Amino acid sequence: MAADCLFCRIASGEIPADTVHVDDAVIAFRDVNPQAPTHILVIPRAHIASAGDLRATDSDLLGRLFAVVADVADREGLVRGWRVVTNVGEDGGQSVGHLHLHLLGGRRLTWPPG
Ligand code: AMP
Repeated sequence: MAADCLFCRIASGEIPADTVHVDDAVIAFRDVNPQAPTHILVIPRAHIASAGDLRATDSDLLGRLFAVVADVADREGLVRGWRVVTNVGEDGGQSVGHLHLHLLGGRRLTWPPG
């Protein structure tokens, strides 16, 4: 855990969140500033700064993150489709330095993103 990391503090329970999934490795919670009717962040408990820091040894964790995304999308009833996004760095629009997958759905999403 990184003491100054917002999402580490959410993962530890120190900062409350509207949580939709918790297990030993992965947490999912609703984004405070939703960009779609469903906007959920799926994060590892372990502090990984971004997708740019993932290594081949993280393959099990990545599988678990995406399995939670799919399960939450199912539970949210996103039968018409959804999008998973992860922003990396300044140009990628990343504002929190802890890996997170945005699950977006509940409306028709445009492409390309801004
Ligand atoms: P990004 O800009 O890709 O790093 O995404 C960070 C996301 O975290 C943004 O969509 C924020 O709205 C969201 N966010 C920031 N603080 C919180 C919080 N305390 N609880 C839930 N979501 C948050």
